[in-house]
Amino acid sequence: MKKRDYTPNVLIIYTGGTIGMKESTESGALVPMKFEQLEEEIPEIKKMGINIDSYAFNPPIDSSNMNPLLWGRIAELIKKKYIQYDGFVILHGTDTMSYTASALSFMLDNLGKPVILTGSQLPIGVLRTDGKENLVTAIEIAAAQKENAPIVQEVSIYFSSRLFRGNRTTKEDSEQFSAFASHNFPRLAKAGTDIVFNYDLLHHSKNKGIFNVNTKFCSDIVVITLFPGIQEKVFKQILATPDLKGVVLQTYGSGNIPTHKWLIDAIKESSDKGIVFLNVTQCSGGRVMMGQYETSCELRKAGVVSGHDITIEAAVTKLMFLLGQELSLKEIKMHLDQNMRGEICI
Ligand code: ASP
Repeated sequence: MKKRDYTPNVLIIYTGGTIGMKESTESGALVPMKFEQLEEEIPEIKKMGINIDSYAFNPPIDSSNMNPLLWGRIAELIKKKYIQYDGFVILHGTDTMSYTASALSFMLDNLGKPVILTGSQLPIGVLRTDGKENLVTAIEIAAAQKENAPIVQEVSIYFSSRLFRGNRTTKEDSEQFSAFASHNFPRLAKAGTDIVFNYDLLHHSKNKGIFNVNTKFCSDIVVITLFPGIQEKVFKQILATPDLKGVVLQTYGSGNIPTHKWLIDAIKESSDKGIVFLNVTQCSGGRVMMGQYETSCELRKAGVVSGHDITIEAAVTKLMFLLGQELSLKEIKMHLDQNMRGEICI
């Protein structure tokens, strides 16, 4: 990194996760530690030439306990501190980091500053930890400017030397340091001896409106993963759930389902009643192309919306976000089918 001619301000929002965990003396299990303890483990961050402040969740959480209310808390905090800081780093458990990154991407409207999520596979106090490099580089990226403007102006995940668009990521490995993948979109930057940004891919909008946050979500949705042998009674029972408003249907390959009549009839009946269906492929790479095979033509006729090349994490959060807004069914389907925050390529 080149020498800076001013001192950037970065806010670290510590939510919890392995990065800040230590072994409990009682049970031996990993439990979250306080941010002050975490800071002591990385004195390096004081020497970065960056003003770093922090805000910690109390208590810090394992990200398995993350939920839409807590997403809202993070977003509101960013809103409150938006003017004061050049960038934000969110320390977060890896398990649901891609969900939070996706949710934030939809919540933060007209974002013009970096919001970088990171964490680690090994706690920061462990000698071989990946947490130090992840945190230090995430802070560097959050502070990085070019021509007096932030280089990154979107929600992203920095992990294991790579910066990804947050709503394109999936946690794909629970053991390797490179825990995240972005199968359908190239990385935004690679950190070696230098941090090399992929400027053509970074999101920059010239005519940005005023930054705002929208924290409303509707959680009345379900993800149904199809599998050979799926039972009619189970499928119909799920669709009969009271107040159900949306279904992410994880289909085969390019968006295909079995041609059982009961299946398409059940989908059509629920869709006619106003339940929104979003078709997402079970494959980690590639896209839904409804109509390519006979087995997906009927879905389109039944009113199912294509998820294109969306991840399951972005599909779930986008559906919950849109259902939480005061939108008509037609508008919800229209937005689902369109790119909102770089989450899909059409
Ligand atoms: N269970 C932890 C969490 O997601 C795992 C991690 O941080 O990697 O909070």
